Amino acid sequence: MKITISKWKLGLALTALAIGVLTGCGTEKPTAATGAAATQANSAGASGAKINVVAAENFYGEVAQAVGGDHVNVTSILTNPGQDPHDYEPTAETSKAVAGAQVVVYTGIGYDDWMERLLKADSSAKTKDVVAVGSDLLGKSAGDNPHVWYDLATMPKLASKLADDLGKLDPANSEDYQKRAKDYIATMAPLTDKAAKIKQGSPVSIDVSEPVFDYMAESLNLQVNNPKFALAVEEGNDPTASDYAQVQDDIKNHKIKLFVFNTQTDSPTVENIVKLAQGNSIPIIKVTETEPTGKNYIQWMAEQLDQVGNAFGIQ
Ligand SMILES: [Zn+2]
Repeated sequence: MKITISKWKLGLALTALAIGVLTGCGTEKPTAATGAAATQANSAGASGAKINVVAAENFYGEVAQAVGGDHVNVTSILTNPGQDPHDYEPTAETSKAVAGAQVVVYTGIGYDDWMERLLKADSSAKTKDVVAVGSDLLGKSAGDNPHVWYDLATMPKLASKLADDLGKLDPANSEDYQKRAKDYIATMAPLTDKAAKIKQGSPVSIDVSEPVFDYMAESLNLQVNNPKFALAVEEGNDPTASDYAQVQDDIKNHKIKLFVFNTQTDSPTVENIVKLAQGNSIPIIKVTETEPTGKNYIQWMAEQLDQVGNAFGIQ
């Protein structure tokens, strides 16, 4: 399912509003539950001793599950790649899951403000362990690029943080959490090795359709030639004529080595650029903002890195 650019635009506008006037967000419009995850048994019953963890995005939920093992019930909210994360509005089921959580993980920095609104409305929020990955673990703030899961340092930091926090909530199993976090971090080694192999010795120019892949690009020493083009697309605007012309020129004159294309956006402008890049034999790297169904975080990232590796003839 394609995400239309108008939806993205709306989502960003809402995000901007939420940053500006936090108090103004009183009305929640219920939406179809496409993006709301199935709760893995909200522990009210037999497994009452388990710690309830709610992750706004499923890639964080994966880390929580890896670290928490049998000691946790993890509910991920955004699990459907057809759901535009910038446009998500929580359902009653989401509020219930958050209310029942002892640990909450979300991106923050303006990406998933709906979680902040839910926590604000929840009288028990003060007793929860709340981890805003962007600000708490990475020192980012609103206005910074929110797609922090494209930084390969993020998940190891989250795993360590969750091991510490779960150990405090459940000291009897603290060693297990530490061990599980260590094991999870070890499973990321092939991915970081792959990235290290692909990393360019000197800066290489690229262009991107949206700033989704930028942290990864930066770590590979790939520099976005025209970030304004990508920002306009993400904000649902048409890039200016001069930015559009510059990206065309980058392609026609082979000033860039590859073009990173977020396939979850439906934009005629981007489609034209992709066609132009194909016609000029500029490799297209297909990326997504959300985790594809049937792949875990590591597989997802590895597949995208492989495309970059192939473009550079690195196996
Ligand atoms: Zn985004």
